[in-house]
Amino acid sequence: MTTAATHLECDDCRARYGLLDPVNTCRGCGGLLDAVYDLEGLRQRLDLDAVLRRPNTVWRWRELLPLVDDNHRVTLGEGGSPLLMCERVGEAIGLRRLAAKNDAMNPTASFKDRSFTISVSKAKELGVRLGFTYTSGNAGASFAAYMAKARIPSVVLVKDWATREKIAMIRIYGCRTVILSYDSFAEVTRMLEEAVKRLGIYQFVLFINPYRHEGYKSYAYELWNDLGRRVPDWVIQPVSNGGGLYGLWKGFRELKALGLADRLPRLVACQPTASPPIVRAFEAGKTVAERFGDPRASIAQSIGSDAPIGGGRRILRALADTRGRAVAATDSAMLEAMALLGRDGLFVEPSSAITVAAAKQLASEGIIGPEDRVVCILTGSGLKQPAAVDQVFPQGLEHIHARIEELEPLLLPTGGEG
Ligand SMILES: *Cc1c(COP(=O)(O)O)cnc(C)c1O
Ligand SMILES: [Zn+2]
Repeated sequence: MTTAATHLECDDCRARYGLLDPVNTCRGCGGLLDAVYDLEGLRQRLDLDAVLRRPNTVWRWRELLPLVDDNHRVTLGEGGSPLLMCERVGEAIGLRRLAAKNDAMNPTASFKDRSFTISVSKAKELGVRLGFTYTSGNAGASFAAYMAKARIPSVVLVKDWATREKIAMIRIYGCRTVILSYDSFAEVTRMLEEAVKRLGIYQFVLFINPYRHEGYKSYAYELWNDLGRRVPDWVIQPVSNGGGLYGLWKGFRELKALGLADRLPRLVACQPTASPPIVRAFEAGKTVAERFGDPRASIAQSIGSDAPIGGGRRILRALADTRGRAVAATDSAMLEAMALLGRDGLFVEPSSAITVAAAKQLASEGIIGPEDRVVCILTGSGLKQPAAVDQVFPQGLEHIHARIEELEPLLLPTGGEG
């Protein structure tokens, strides 16, 4: 059970770094680093049955993860979330084979756990002594949980508009939780760059940390297995910096290189209409996204980014390579999607419901066919942002006093809400 990873490589200048080097971005050119695997060698030695007998977590495909020594593994049982057919959503939007991957079922109730189990394990392996990150909520909660488990002290800066629920979750793991206010996001970026320059702090921000997206590759392995060792036609993913989407792409490419899959799914990136820099770049046929939009103007708090890291080049490459799509959705489309998902027993935050809004849009345009096999990745629990439910149902709740005369009309055959 040893890793097939051989080294890190710079996206831009192809410089190489060892797997035990505590590097964030390329020391030569500042480019993003990616782990490279000996897939040809792994193809020869992989025992697929043995892999599939291991527990269904992110760590199942151990050979495709970059940790060198298993003693450094930090896990809370992440991954292996259920893939559920969404019949009622599908009927409403005209898709007969719509399924959702319910990643709200993770230890800190968001998909971020897939990435932090890897990056915090690597931090332990690299001997990192202090952890630090900033967050709109879900990343901080996940980071804090894994750092606590790893016994590495940590500081989390939380954006001042994060929900109480998200802040509460970050605090309980015992890290130092600090509210961060700012006028423009450029200010934050400047401060973080300065912190790195002065203090040489090891970073956990997606892509700046070379390991987090490795955990998201598990989506590809799990979907392939859940669908009877088949590849779906479409996978729809909410995108801020695009770790989930890039991980999906890398994971499916690995399955193909290993001879397990014969093609890639078409990938869809969704963003709120308030801040859709990737959608804008995609539609203009560009390979780099420019700063665009106002992240605070949408209820999709977890995917509010006006300037994706690395200019979104990794995401745009993944979309181009899979003949994918980029879709922007409004707040009202997300709220409608939340209500639809509720009918299939799923409670997710607006940033996850956006995938169903995108599916609906692409189905109505005839881009996704009614028989296509479609998977929406539901990245986070609705419990992290319960106030959104009041916007889904603006009419408010009915009230009664404890009297049979008031109860009785509710229980007559026409009384239920369906
Ligand atoms: C962080 C987050 C996203 C976006 O993740 P990226 O990897 O930055 O694209 C989507 N949904 C939820 C619920 C999140 O917390
Ligand atoms: Zn470089």
